[in-house]
Amino acid sequence: MHQSTRLIPEDTALSAIQPLGPAGADRAVPALPAALSTETVLAVRHWTERLFSFTLTRDPGFRFQSGQFTLLGLMVDGRPLLRPYSMASAHYDTTLEFLSVKMANGPLTSRLRHIAPGATVLIGRKPTGTLVQDSLLPGRTLYLFATGTGLAPFLSLVKDPDLYTRFDRVVLTHTSRLVNELVHAEHITHELPRHELLGEMVRERLIYYPSVTGEPFRTSGRITGLIESGRMSADLGLPPLDPTTDRAMICGSTALLVDLGALLVRRGFREGSLSRPGEFVIEKAFVAR
Ligand SMILES: Cc1cc2nc3c(=O)[nH]c(=O)nc-3n(C[C@H](O)[C@H](O)[C@H](O)COP(=O)(O)OP(=O)(O)OC[C@H]3O[C@@H](n4cnc5c(N)ncnc54)[C@H](O)[C@@H]3O)c2cc1C
Repeated sequence: MHQSTRLIPEDTALSAIQPLGPAGADRAVPALPAALSTETVLAVRHWTERLFSFTLTRDPGFRFQSGQFTLLGLMVDGRPLLRPYSMASAHYDTTLEFLSVKMANGPLTSRLRHIAPGATVLIGRKPTGTLVQDSLLPGRTLYLFATGTGLAPFLSLVKDPDLYTRFDRVVLTHTSRLVNELVHAEHITHELPRHELLGEMVRERLIYYPSVTGEPFRTSGRITGLIESGRMSADLGLPPLDPTTDRAMICGSTALLVDLGALLVRRGFREGSLSRPGEFVIEKAFVAR
């Protein structure tokens, strides 16, 4: 377990956030629940006013499957303030990466947005989630449908070589409100195809299909509309969604899950889980409070 004496550098001035670990002798150190460990921030990248990514150290004992999430947070007023977060890094990476929203009044992200290298972040020791390959029956084409930060679990999955041995083709769709919220587009289209180990599989099998709802873009509109109009299939040169050959994972807002889930069910897809694999699985990218 990594422990640091400071959560954040001095200049970020987040007085509500408490230090963890060995503090001065006169200072009470909050106990860390056994279900949590701490990791150190290595890098932070602010994409927009609404989105940022950060990289943490990784305890080698922290294992997860591509597509899973865990609890992540900060110590606030002597207590852990935690939220579910999907790992965006590959299960084999030596560091952990996350993609985060910044909610102005969000209890966690109004603080988390200020982290800088050297800060300490809390991590739950027990990853979980349904967006894992074993929740799906074998198929030929896998569709990964993401909106907003729902991209995070799929960033992990598309870096998993196992995915390309299970599926002939992987289609990653990412829908955002604005063009500059299509984060990681450069990584997906330029870096992954040149990746030393994954490059060939990615070049042959991964298709990236971004779309934007709130301003002009080459592909505009909600993904459900793009599917129903036949535009997505036409753009990709693929047949319409078919439960005999296609599998899907969905991660986004409740509205996306409901609408796209219903669309898939109408086409004969059955929702799966780890205990009962099916033709599609869903996970909320956030809970509306
Ligand atoms: C299974 C699961 C996985 C998640 N993975 C991620 C992740 O990888 N990255 C991430 O940023 N968040 C993720 N979330 C959401 C995350 O848990 C928090 O809600 C988010 O960090 C905001 O926390 P907060 O305390 O600042 O605000 P909260 O009180 O948690 O949320 C306040 C409001 O902000 C909105 N909101 C919260 N999260 C988002 C979001 N991601 N996108 C758009 N609107 C949002 C909602 O309307 C919510 O009502 C996940 C949630 C679930 C259930």
